[in-house]
Amino acid sequence: MEEFDLLVIGAGSGGVAASRRASLHGARVAIAESGAVGGTCINRGCVPKKLFTYAAHYSEDFHEAAGFGWEEAKPSFRWPDLIAAKDREIARLNQVYEGLLSSGDVTLLRGRARLVDGNTAEVDGDAVRAKHILLATGGRPFVPEIPGNEHGFNSDEAFHLREMPKRVVIVGGGYIAIEFASIFRGLGAAVTVVHRDTGILRGFDAEVRSTLTDELRKKDVAFRAGRSVRRLSRKGTAVIATLDDNENLSADGVMFATGRTPSAHNLGLEEAGVALNERGAVVVDADSRTSVANIFAIGDLTHRRNLTPVAIAEGRAVADFVFGGTTRHLDYAMVPTAVFSLPAVGTIGLTEAEARARGGAVDIYTSSFRPLRHTLSGSDERALVKLVVDAVTDRVLGAHMVGADAAEVIQSLAVALTAGATKAHFDATLALHPTAAEEFVLLRSKAAAPA
Ligand code: FAD
Ligand code: NDP
Repeated sequence: MEEFDLLVIGAGSGGVAASRRASLHGARVAIAESGAVGGTCINRGCVPKKLFTYAAHYSEDFHEAAGFGWEEAKPSFRWPDLIAAKDREIARLNQVYEGLLSSGDVTLLRGRARLVDGNTAEVDGDAVRAKHILLATGGRPFVPEIPGNEHGFNSDEAFHLREMPKRVVIVGGGYIAIEFASIFRGLGAAVTVVHRDTGILRGFDAEVRSTLTDELRKKDVAFRAGRSVRRLSRKGTAVIATLDDNENLSADGVMFATGRTPSAHNLGLEEAGVALNERGAVVVDADSRTSVANIFAIGDLTHRRNLTPVAIAEGRAVADFVFGGTTRHLDYAMVPTAVFSLPAVGTIGLTEAEARARGGAVDIYTSSFRPLRHTLSGSDERALVKLVVDAVTDRVLGAHMVGADAAEVIQSLAVALTAGATKAHFDATLALHPTAAEEFVLLRSKAAAPA
């Protein structure tokens, strides 16, 4: 039996990055994958989602062009063409990722892996031994156990619907719910979002949450806040979502965007002695080591921040720790993230509420404005930028934006915040005019402190 230095289980964002880095350190590495190489992000996450978001944006672009002298176009949209184009791109990326593994000298083992003990796994029945094992199996959609849930679809299935539903009910108020609300609305569907919290995007800054809700409402996305779906039923071709107050919403499709569960099932974790927490995620320490000394876990399986760049960074850190002798811990407080809604949200660092909860004095700077483009586009969309500043040290603790290109803007600001920029640094930075991003260096008036 061949023995490797490292067996990685799961060739998604984190697993591929970790395996290549370990191989660079000279380790003999194998990676087991039961599905398509590239994992969630490439096959049913970030990439196809962003392609759908671009598709959805065109409807606004066509419409707004009239304000700039273009005769209004009346284009029609063909969902099967979008699906086919997306599938071609993903097939290309699968090849690219397989190439990354072979050029990185990583042995790809196709099949479902299961631990037999701390050093042995079975991959579709074949035993593989390794000195170290890295679990990187990601997560899968969670759907609540309500009657008729089989009539709904989840995000994996959303990427392969045969037809685009004309009326969509989306259950949930998190990242996926809000991104798909924008996608389906942009592509012409009537969209209703049913979420159980009072606002969407729990955990995001309160002003960001309310601004985005207002903007989505302007685009005719309907919300049922503080409500749950009690059951789904079929009536002809329609699906009826019955809410907890007995309201019936009739739709052509109901999407569950109700969170994700770590893929820890059927992995032989119990046999190997790997501990899980109450959410079913693998418990790890700061070095991503599990309760078994030679077994590590990263990415969505560990449910720390379920984002691709985080899984990649965790994976590389494990490879550097085990085979490169260096220790690097991620700063989970400074993770930039975006919701690719229309308009988008970009955010890094602390929300205002989180900063105030720390107890120290906090200065808040916000600007809500009409982007230049919309002076002629006819759209009444507004943008929001916000800085959360430590009033004593002047350090910028958080930056938040709602508006076109918010993700791009926040990625650039992430460099400054990660480097410990102060508000004085922002004030000393020249504006790049005319942009929306310049608002971040033009913020001068502090918001009044809450009473
Ligand atoms: P994954 O990428 O999920 O990879 C796990 C791999 O393990 C899979 O390929 C799976 O087939 C394989 N596997 C599982 N069990 C076994 C087994 N027993 N044996 C062999 N192989 C196995 N993040 C962002 O940063 N930006 C975004 O815009 C973004 N958009 C998203 C949109 C959607 C709709 C979704 C669902 C997620 C999105 N994410 C986004 C999150 C991102 O996709 C994940 O955080 C990331 O893919 C996690 O990487 P991972 O390596 O932990 O797992
Ligand atoms: P989120 O955790 O973002 O949101 C889940 C939503 O479902 C919340 O509104 C939650 O409500 C609700 N919910 C959970 N359980 C139930 C239930 N039983 N009944 C009704 N509502 C329920 O998860 P997503 O599925 O949207 O996305 C998963 C993760 O993937 C994200 O957290 C993110 O880390 C990643 N992702 C990243 C993206 C990006 O970077 N752009 C895009 C998409 C996903 P409540 O808030 O009340 O718990």
